[in-house]
Amino acid sequence: MKIVLATSNAGKIKEFSALLSDLTLQIIPQSEFNIEDAEETGQTFIENAIIKARHASEKTGLAALADDSGLVVDALGGKPGIFSARFAGQNASAEKNIKKLLDDMQNIQAPNRSARFVCVLVLFRYPNDPYPFVCQANWEGEILFAPKGRGGFGYDPIFWVPTHRCAAAELSEDIKNQISHRAKAFQCLHRDLL
Ligand code: IMP
Repeated sequence: MKIVLATSNAGKIKEFSALLSDLTLQIIPQSEFNIEDAEETGQTFIENAIIKARHASEKTGLAALADDSGLVVDALGGKPGIFSARFAGQNASAEKNIKKLLDDMQNIQAPNRSARFVCVLVLFRYPNDPYPFVCQANWEGEILFAPKGRGGFGYDPIFWVPTHRCAAAELSEDIKNQISHRAKAFQCLHRDLL
C-alpha cells in the first residue's frame, strides 16, 4: 500500500519513518509530489488533521496520513495548542517558540505547570473517504523553567517527562518512540487498521 505523508515537518517525518519502519507500506512525503501545505483553518487538532489528510489524498489520488499535533498548557488555557508551530509568529524557529512560552509562564509556579503533547492521526484511504480513520493520543508532563537536552524537536527541551525524570529532549529516539503522544497514536493505527 502506498501512503502519502501529509507533512513537511522534518522532525515529524523522522519519527513517522521510525514508527512505520516495520510495516510493508511505501511512505512518500508530500514534498515528493510538490504539494504545498494545506491551510490549517480548523480550530481543533482533529479538524486540521482532516484538512491536511484530505488535501494530500485529493492532490495525489492516494491514501494519505496526516498528524496534527502540539502542546497544550493548562495554565495558558490550552495554548499554544493548534498554534504550536507558529506560537511566536509565522515560520518561527523552535527556539523562538520556546522563548515565548517560557516568557508567558515566568510567573507560574509548580504544580501549575502541567501540560501535554497531543497527536491526532487521520488516514484517508482514498480522496473523499467519508469514514477516515482517526486516532488521538496524549503525553502528560510539565513545562520546565529552562531548556534541557539536545534530542527531539520543537518543544522537547522544555517538556519534563515525570515517568523518566528528564526532559523529552534527553530521551533516546527509541524511548521517545515508545512513549510519546505520536507513538501512542501510531500504536492505535497499527492495532486497528494495519
Ligand atoms: P503541526 O505541524 O501544525 O501539527 O504543528 C506541530 C507543532 O507542535 C510542531 O511544530 C512542534 O512545535 C509541536 N510538536 C508536535 N509534536 C511534538 C513533539 O513530539 N515534540 C516537540 N514538539 C512537538
